[in-house]
Amino acid sequence: MEFDLIARIRDRCAHRRGDVALGIGDDAALLDVPAGQQLVACTDTLVAGVHFPVATAPEDIGWKALAVNLSDLAAMGAEPVWALLALTLPDADARFVERFADGFAALAGKHAVALIGGDTTQGPLSITVTALGFVPRGAALTRGGAHAGDAVFVTGALGDAAGALHELQDSGLGLRRQDAGANTGKADGPEGEPQERRVSRDSKPRLEASRKRLLQRMRRPRPRVAAGLALHGVASACIDVSDGLLADLRHVCTASGVGAEVDADALPFSAELRAEFDDAACRDFALTGGDDYELCFTVPPGCEDRVAAALAAAGCDATRIGRVVAGSGVRIMDAQGNVVTPPRAGWEHFSR
Ligand code: ADP
Ligand code: MG
Repeated sequence: MEFDLIARIRDRCAHRRGDVALGIGDDAALLDVPAGQQLVACTDTLVAGVHFPVATAPEDIGWKALAVNLSDLAAMGAEPVWALLALTLPDADARFVERFADGFAALAGKHAVALIGGDTTQGPLSITVTALGFVPRGAALTRGGAHAGDAVFVTGALGDAAGALHELQDSGLGLRRQDAGANTGKADGPEGEPQERRVSRDSKPRLEASRKRLLQRMRRPRPRVAAGLALHGVASACIDVSDGLLADLRHVCTASGVGAEVDADALPFSAELRAEFDDAACRDFALTGGDDYELCFTVPPGCEDRVAAALAAAGCDATRIGRVVAGSGVRIMDAQGNVVTPPRAGWEHFSR
């Protein structure tokens, strides 16, 4: 049965590459790495009920399992090339596996990523993807290169996935509260009651449409691969925003031995998020919500025009949200230059 499942996965992940000398089917894959390139490797696990609601469509789980890994490669400035897939399944549900593989293949095909192997075991649903990519020797973007005086940028818009999760939680379809305590974007009122954070100035059909787009952003995140490649030679440091801007920018600060100031009013929100939530909620989602998979990067003084041009050519927009300063830690500033206290630190496992 295991081999039948592997065959179904292989058949559906049809993208083949010339640099795969030996793919799925032997004890291990054999791969050709071009001269002058460094191999970039990362792995991430998704556990049902922790990283995605149990009721998530299999196609969306497959897409997301690859997307979170391609996002890590993007943050290194790497071109994604190959992936391995370790699947733990509660039972040999062929239809589930086919649908999962279709979602995985949809994203893999977009980025010309070949599935080169994996493992298939029985147990509670959990997916581990290992992604491999290339970066020209010495060109990788790391977390450690930011300097005081650099500008801090973020691609796209923040907070959409956390907003979508908030919606699901309200309708009872989301992650269990105890699993996702730090990641719900849920603000509690003075008596511990959930506060109403919606703004309902929009008409009902328009709200439905924006809700759908937020859910799509949560279920099918688009890794910023082209942006990562465009940042070669201009960004001093880079990270992908998977745990919330605060937590992830803090990693850059720690690795670089610097601090950062973020202008609360500069945070980019989508029109869809704004249609659904008030400013304070948008800000909470952006700072601590997680699952955005945008890139946060720093740019040395005088390089901002080059960055803007390179990203525009890559079809990606970016917003300047703050600056790197001497010291340590991340401070959020309001328009008057006062420090704002953020609600939570961001998503962290084993935080209790
Ligand atoms: P082994 O017992 O030697 O580990 P497996 O039966 O686990 O072999 O795997 C056989 C082949 O199928 C290997 O090439 C492996 O990489 C591939 N494979 C197994 N599971 C998956 C999967 N979920 N996705 C892709 N390839 C897989
Ligand atoms: Mg095996």
